[in-house]
Amino acid sequence: MAELKYGRVLLKISGEGLCKPGGSGIDGSALRTLAEEIKLVADLGVQLGVVVGGGNIFRGSTLADDTQIEEATGHYMGMLATVINALAVQDTLESMGVPTRVQSAIAVDRVCEKFIRRRAMRHLEKGRVVILAAGTGNPFVTTDTGAALRAAEIRADVLLKATKVDGVFSADPVEDPTAQRFDRLTYNDVIDRRLEIMDVSAIDLCQRSRIPIIVLDVRIPGNMCAALSGETRGTMIDSGD
Ligand code: UDP
Repeated sequence: MAELKYGRVLLKISGEGLCKPGGSGIDGSALRTLAEEIKLVADLGVQLGVVVGGGNIFRGSTLADDTQIEEATGHYMGMLATVINALAVQDTLESMGVPTRVQSAIAVDRVCEKFIRRRAMRHLEKGRVVILAAGTGNPFVTTDTGAALRAAEIRADVLLKATKVDGVFSADPVEDPTAQRFDRLTYNDVIDRRLEIMDVSAIDLCQRSRIPIIVLDVRIPGNMCAALSGETRGTMIDSGD
């Protein structure tokens, strides 16, 4: 393994990475696959923050029309779903001997810490994987924005965005076998071409904070470690300089 290019990393995993393909809820095998790759990264000495999504359980934007639940409430429900996922990721990692802390943007004192930036950074320095739950703590945005925000706050060197396919493609590679993978894109490419990899607010925040984003399939064994040692994996999004 080459020397590490990035020492402090923010990994964004979606809820879909915690369940069976196309399914919902939590799947032990999917969790273990993910945790094994996170452990490899942690064992390299990388300081790792992990923002977890909640889409495998609930998304505020998918509230059925026939409910009396307000949209804002739906988003809070989605944020609480990410807390459930964070606890699942925590126990799986700890069962593999990886020290962790969960910090939540919404106080859930009986189960985890509150997000406190300086404390999160202290945990990272001590080699603990910090699992960041409840997104930004505010409704109407997603955990992608939460990931960009936390990446900027903890001064991450890179944001890894885990996806089902290994990078950003010109078309859906599952449906179109001729789809081409982009090795590199600029932040403006992503915004101008409406590539919908992450929320525009997340891309914008990374651009302003000069945090590169690598979009990749973290379930491919060794993929994350290779990307973090500077090998071309997935798609790199940066300023293009
Ligand atoms: N959410 C929110 N504010 C945040 C982060 C998340 O309101 O800062 C809600 C939102 O409803 C979102 C849901 O939580 O749809 C689950 O997060 P997300 O959709 O980002 O999960 P993922 O798609 O990554 O699994």
